[in-house]
Amino acid sequence: MDREVPHSTRVIACDLDDVLCQTNLAVAQWHNARYGTQMTLDEFYYYHYWKNPHWGTPDETLAKVHEFYESKDFQELQPVDGAKEGLETLRDMGFSVQIVTARAGGHQVETEAWLEKHFPGLVNKVHYTGEFVRMQDDTVNVEKITKASVCHSISALLIIDDCANHTFTCASASPVVPSILFGDYQWNQRLSVTEDDKDFLSHDARTLIEGQPGWWEKDNLDSLPETMKRARSWPDAVQHISQMQRRRERPDFGLNNSKSNGDVVRPRAALHLSKYA
Ligand SMILES: [Mg+2]
Repeated sequence: MDREVPHSTRVIACDLDDVLCQTNLAVAQWHNARYGTQMTLDEFYYYHYWKNPHWGTPDETLAKVHEFYESKDFQELQPVDGAKEGLETLRDMGFSVQIVTARAGGHQVETEAWLEKHFPGLVNKVHYTGEFVRMQDDTVNVEKITKASVCHSISALLIIDDCANHTFTCASASPVVPSILFGDYQWNQRLSVTEDDKDFLSHDARTLIEGQPGWWEKDNLDSLPETMKRARSWPDAVQHISQMQRRRERPDFGLNNSKSNGDVVRPRAALHLSKYA
């Protein structure tokens, strides 16, 4: 998918899973049917599944996710409410929407078929960062591609993403990529850091160490950088972008320029890269 767009067209980067399609809901329903669990969306405390109940260790989680990708449930994801109308509005406002997804390029065929089915003509290009490819074979030296670097390469004015890790990385990048943290989701109430060994424990093992339920709440985001806004829905996201557009031609959330100004609030941990993140 690579539609020609005028060179001057302003680009908005948009995530796919849980911004355009209801992936985590489908994953939970698939897991319950396959493994007899009672998993709910409210138990997705973190972006990394293994930190959440029922998933197991990172390796067990990866095996399950690959199994899910092979299922018909993955092919039949439902669109997020209001997403089509949202993309239509952005198109009518003169924006070119390009998808920046953590999925691997190996899923290109089914990903772009799904987009054409549900959002025909509304997406101009899809970029695959392959965030979890390294988990498949730790010996393969796969270059880590961040969403911020993709946004820089396509000169995206902003990114819409449901993962706080990604929006924080973009909102504190240099130059800044203003970000909209999308969705009223448990997993984006906090960052999911991968900085030491305990961050790679299963939920049950971590709960034993922490000694009390609700331990994840200490990671709650108290505040967001001014370059990052929260949008609970698509109408909310479109409203943010409209306000930014009215404020100035470049929707930079009121910053004087697009460079990092040193005042950006950085995440508690710098989201250390690892084989799992
Ligand atoms: Mg997502």
